[in-house]
Amino acid sequence: MQSDSLREYTTLENAGLLEQLQEFQTKTHDYEELISQSLEMFTKTSEGDLVAYLSGCLVQRFIPSYLVVFLHQDETSKKIKNICFQNLRPASCPVKLLDFEPYREYFGDIPTAVSFAQMEDDVPEYADALRPLMPDIIIPLNGLTGLYGFVVLGRKVLDDDYTPDEQTYIQMLFNYASIGLQNVIHYTSSVTDFKTRLYNHSFFMRRLREEMNRVGRYYSSFALLVIDIDNFKKLNDRYGHLAGDRILFNLSRVIEDSVRAEDIVSRYGGEEFLVLLTQCSKRSAYIAAERIRQNTEALETSYHGKDIKITVSIGSTHCTHPLKASPNDLIKEADEALYRAKNGGRNRCELFAPGLLMAANALRNDRHEY
Ligand code: GH3
Ligand code: MG
Ligand code: MG
Repeated sequence: MQSDSLREYTTLENAGLLEQLQEFQTKTHDYEELISQSLEMFTKTSEGDLVAYLSGCLVQRFIPSYLVVFLHQDETSKKIKNICFQNLRPASCPVKLLDFEPYREYFGDIPTAVSFAQMEDDVPEYADALRPLMPDIIIPLNGLTGLYGFVVLGRKVLDDDYTPDEQTYIQMLFNYASIGLQNVIHYTSSVTDFKTRLYNHSFFMRRLREEMNRVGRYYSSFALLVIDIDNFKKLNDRYGHLAGDRILFNLSRVIEDSVRAEDIVSRYGGEEFLVLLTQCSKRSAYIAAERIRQNTEALETSYHGKDIKITVSIGSTHCTHPLKASPNDLIKEADEALYRAKNGGRNRCELFAPGLLMAANALRNDRHEY
């Protein structure tokens, strides 16, 4: 004879309620996962990190042949950035888009995800450009100012279709990703100088304070460089401000390429730059400053058929434990050294402390005595 509870269990099972309960539990778990994934996405500060995280979310369910995010953030340029993952590994994108406008127009009318088949019907020539990505689903990224990008999700590598549940997950995940990407874009523009694409002054001061705290805590050291273009006013007068702007941009790339990825390069204002060389000895700071100076000498900026060359003067100071200066004092020290570099004839590097000046001269004469 069946016990009462077993009878009730059988009744629930026969009515299909247990199965339904199971389904609800799975759905709840899925939503919980989606919420935690979204929260994680909101903490990302670079588009690359965010898309890498997204690919990690997808791999738990399926592997798309391609995951590509196209972004058009800069209204002053036609450039369309892409971040591409092939089989969920970072890859170079086989598609280069030259014009964002057609996609903006298309998704203006259809603001939700579309199948590639539908896009092929609607706008065959624009769909065609995406074909190398084996597209299955195209998801628009809409922000407060309209479309700023879209995602192409390629067919699954095992070539079966996305299930309705997977499609729902994709749509929700990318809705959150879209907010996460906007966060990244706003964050980036709040810490970046528009003209040079370097960090702006307020971000630099924050990092400088952090670095000084680190020196206090861990007995580490860092160096600070102030870089100023020589006779830039004359150059502007001769070639015009647009040429000057192009030089500022190119020089920014030269400085970035002359230091390590973890160093912070920022625009101080005008034609002046600040560089924070983290975990850096006095000797390495001088070597880095010299490298920047020499790489700048080698830079040629083409403008209306003319090749324009520039030089820079660099002042440097060094910060070690125990802290003897405030962030502004440190900048003043580097400024003082810069002043000496200018007075000494320009196109040269000077260190703040008199002792270091000797060391720099020793280095210049190739005598490594310290
Ligand atoms: P020095 O070697 O003593 O530094 O001489 P300088 O001419 O570089 O210095 P000065 O301070 O007299 O002039 C700086 C010039 O930088 C003046 C200004 O026209 C130019 N400048 C500042 N900001 C910008 C900018 O955003 N774009 C361009 N094109 N020029 C700028
Ligand atoms: Mg100046
Ligand atoms: Mg100058």
